[in-house]
Amino acid sequence: MKILIVEDELLIARTLSKKLEKMGYQLTGIVSSGDAALESIRKTPPDLILMDIVIKGDKDGIETAREIDQNYHLPIIYLTAYADDQTLERAEETGCYGYILKPYLEKELHANIKMALKKHEQNKVLKEEISRDPLTGLFNRRYLDEFLVKELHRAKRNKSCFCVMMIDIDHFKRFNDNFGHSAGDLVLQRAANLIKKNVREYDVVCRYGGEEITVICPECAIEDIFFRAESIRETIELDRIVYQSLPLPPVTVSIGIASYPAHGISLLNEADNALYEAKNQGRNRVIVAHKTQNNPNIAFE
Ligand code: GH3
Ligand code: MG
Ligand code: MG
Ligand code: MG
Repeated sequence: MKILIVEDELLIARTLSKKLEKMGYQLTGIVSSGDAALESIRKTPPDLILMDIVIKGDKDGIETAREIDQNYHLPIIYLTAYADDQTLERAEETGCYGYILKPYLEKELHANIKMALKKHEQNKVLKEEISRDPLTGLFNRRYLDEFLVKELHRAKRNKSCFCVMMIDIDHFKRFNDNFGHSAGDLVLQRAANLIKKNVREYDVVCRYGGEEITVICPECAIEDIFFRAESIRETIELDRIVYQSLPLPPVTVSIGIASYPAHGISLLNEADNALYEAKNQGRNRVIVAHKTQNNPNIAFE
């Protein structure tokens, strides 16, 4: 486990670092200001941060902690000589993992570090659980909505493009009606797996609802996504599923695709419209959304 010390008094920092090394922790660095802390985290992310409150530079420890929390979600413990109500109140608002008053016992520090690391791990597991769909293991709608907003901001800022695919299993209801709900579940799981195998590692695959799966492909042009969608469609069609020793009929999907900025900020709706067009044209096909009249940048101000 690696720790970053943010402390403006060198002697205190050195003593603390020796104590930490004795406890078996490594250090990613010792810094004396908020900006230096952010820079150090960006270069070498630690597992935990010990944060003094009165430090060098424009930001104090609490402001620095707030910025770290927003950008990195790392556990922070304050290590400070200040215990006035106002400071405590400000510190509480940052959602940190502990507040230790100097002077402190070594045991107390060690216990706080261990508890913070454990709690942070539990929080990560919880966060992962609320982002996932239990049946397919894909991300869920909640995660999709959050990711899409972030991706829109990122693409706008970097003047880059990204694409979305809306994938819907054709006549899925028939699998449920003819072979039972568990067979339907299996079809859904198989489709989810094949989709994941056919996209890049950093593409985000989500269960949008029922038998609809959405893929967000960052840094990707619509021409590339079309071939990827075709490959998904074909792979699923060629897959042979056996359920309780019984071969199921081939599964097919219809796919609508759209991109930002070409299709504006409502690209998910545009992809959905394209999906419905794919259904109307006879299913088992990929359709690209029509170009939108919206100026994507004006719409997104
Ligand atoms: P279309 O080609 O027009 O998409 O037809 P469809 O039958 O796929 O679409 P429809 O919306 O009529 O039916 C979707 C079905 O998916 C209805 C619903 O009961 C079923 N479904 C939704 N979630 C699940 C699930 O988790 N497991 C199973 N087995 N079925 C599900
Ligand atoms: Mg200080
Ligand atoms: Mg369907
Ligand atoms: Mg559907």
